[in-house]
Amino acid sequence: MSIPPTPAGPALEFDPPLSPVMRIDCPVRLDYTIAAGREQSRFLRAMSRGHLLGRRCPECRKVYLPPRGTCPRCGVMTAEDVEVQPRGTITTWCVTNVPYEGQVLELPYVTASVLLDGADLPFYFLIQGLPADQIRMGMRVEAEWADTLGPTLDSIRCFRPSGEPDADPASYAEHV
Ligand SMILES: [Zn+2]
Repeated sequence: MSIPPTPAGPALEFDPPLSPVMRIDCPVRLDYTIAAGREQSRFLRAMSRGHLLGRRCPECRKVYLPPRGTCPRCGVMTAEDVEVQPRGTITTWCVTNVPYEGQVLELPYVTASVLLDGADLPFYFLIQGLPADQIRMGMRVEAEWADTLGPTLDSIRCFRPSGEPDADPASYAEHV
């Protein structure tokens, strides 16, 4: 059975003719609440005490941070909490140069994937404490904790250069 077409209404005419609509502003907002789940909850509670807690897969032995309930590689439940160090190695990074609405940080600034010591998955953090053009792969960085800790990623204000020698590329080559 076919649906008959909707009859067209009377044509609207404007004098003088209107210019075409080239753009409309549609502010969109979506408020939502998620349940952190068992592993993420443990991770966030540990952050509120100044610790980074990952989970280890019993088969491939990889440590996930933030923790996962299952290993996406092996398809088995992760089984062991592992404390990960609040320092690590920059594997890749991004320099933000373009101003945007709501911008708080002074441009340019750097965010980077940091392979934390004891973890097998890089985590993205804000990097401070050096000019953007001095950032590099292998640079060693350490966490600067916020003055007030809570069950939130905001418990780490940023990462800064630790002053250690750059890491051997072989130590992070599989994580770039
Ligand atoms: Zn695994």
